[in-house]
Amino acid sequence: MSEKLEQIYLSLLQEIGEDPNREGLKKTPARAARALQFLMRGYHQTVEEIVNDAVFEESVEDMIVVRDIEFFSMCEHHLLPFFGFAHVAYIPNGKIIGISKIARIVDVFARRLQVQERMTQQIAEALQDVLQPRGVVCVTEAKHLCMMARGVEKRSSNVSSSYLTGVFRDNPPTRQEFYELIQQRRTYL
Ligand SMILES: [Zn+2]
Repeated sequence: MSEKLEQIYLSLLQEIGEDPNREGLKKTPARAARALQFLMRGYHQTVEEIVNDAVFEESVEDMIVVRDIEFFSMCEHHLLPFFGFAHVAYIPNGKIIGISKIARIVDVFARRLQVQERMTQQIAEALQDVLQPRGVVCVTEAKHLCMMARGVEKRSSNVSSSYLTGVFRDNPPTRQEFYELIQQRRTYL
């Protein structure tokens, strides 16, 4: 547990005009420090260690789609959460990966300070590196607290971002098939 982080939260409480000694706030710096470390744990993880030995040789040629992967991240401009769903697909080229690993790869990048576009690209590129598939696509849909709770106060606005490689980029019917597959779901946000 980082004592420095606790100290920073204590100062922060004072700075906004609070009394850090009042009952409800006594343990807040310690709790907030733990929460932040949890939310930012992606800095201590790598895709390599998460993938480990979960890549398998397989002659599957069909599109593999994992949709509605829930994520929570933090916008690097305001240090406020943004959260939503990632949809990921790839077309294998001799190698596949355990489905649960895809969700964990999303987390490696979500649990850092981010901008949504970069996170989306990093998820797709990580899978591209690990599997060298014929193509990868990652689409993310998110709500940003910095938009919902302040500034423009557009509470219902979703931000969507996508990143495509290989056949998803070069072959419109493949791309179309993916978008149809992810649209067959109900809306969560
Ligand atoms: Zn922001």
